[in-house]
Amino acid sequence: MDLEEARLGLSKHQQTFGVDYSTADFTPTLCGLWGLRPPTQSLGRAITAVQELGHSCFGAAGQLEKALVFCPDAIGDVLWEDYPGDFAPLTANSEVRIKCSTVMPSVTPVCFASIFSGAPPEIHGIQAYSKPVLTVETLFDVAAEAGKQVAIVSSNNCSIDKIFRDRKVDYFSLRNAEMSFEFTKLLLRNSDYDLIISYDGSYDSSLHKTGGRSGESLQAMRTSIARFVELAGLSDAIWGGFNRLLTFTPDHGGHDNPETGRGGHGTDVYDDMVVNHFYRLRQAQPKH
Ligand SMILES: [Zn+2]
Repeated sequence: MDLEEARLGLSKHQQTFGVDYSTADFTPTLCGLWGLRPPTQSLGRAITAVQELGHSCFGAAGQLEKALVFCPDAIGDVLWEDYPGDFAPLTANSEVRIKCSTVMPSVTPVCFASIFSGAPPEIHGIQAYSKPVLTVETLFDVAAEAGKQVAIVSSNNCSIDKIFRDRKVDYFSLRNAEMSFEFTKLLLRNSDYDLIISYDGSYDSSLHKTGGRSGESLQAMRTSIARFVELAGLSDAIWGGFNRLLTFTPDHGGHDNPETGRGGHGTDVYDDMVVNHFYRLRQAQPKH
């Protein structure tokens, strides 16, 4: 497969849904902010708007020092479009919103594999709902290679917990989303990681059980947004002396099946395929 053909695994969805970015642009963008090389198989592209914000925020010679990547499963663009009031605290706490298409099939292991490798499924190798350990390079490999301390906080046996194993990363696997969130805050306060991934599967679980717009699901969506806002305040308090980044990085969206009343995803439709990635950058406060 030549490079152009391989990149089609990302760009064809951008064309279908009329968006300028792919979720696979996330890792090259972070690598750019950090001054790291992108993973070997990455075909995503560093996002100019985020790079420019990094330059103006950190200074021409400055670089990112600490990053917290919050991953709310299945929160798609359709929710952002339909519930702007609920998303207002997220918009107010981030500078850049990148509307992007994910990859096919739009299921969690396939999508997060692309987000953290920059590679389309045809290259990273997970092309169905399965959770093998990913063999291509990821953000975590290049960060660890550069001496960064990396932690992945997630729920037991979820995709993120399983597919990025066997790396120089500390894995913290909790029994549910609430425990994962509480543990993320504990890590922020009591450790010195440079990159923390924090997975939140609460909206996705509710979507599958009760539909994407049930009272329970909308409450789970609001809880994820509130968690992001809480992490923004906490990262300012704990990481105030560092150039820092907080992101809101969902894997895919979701849609309801009118016959069952339940939600799902995995298909090549807008509701499953288009998500928003939010970036919040802050400059280190001068040390006294
Ligand atoms: Zn799901």
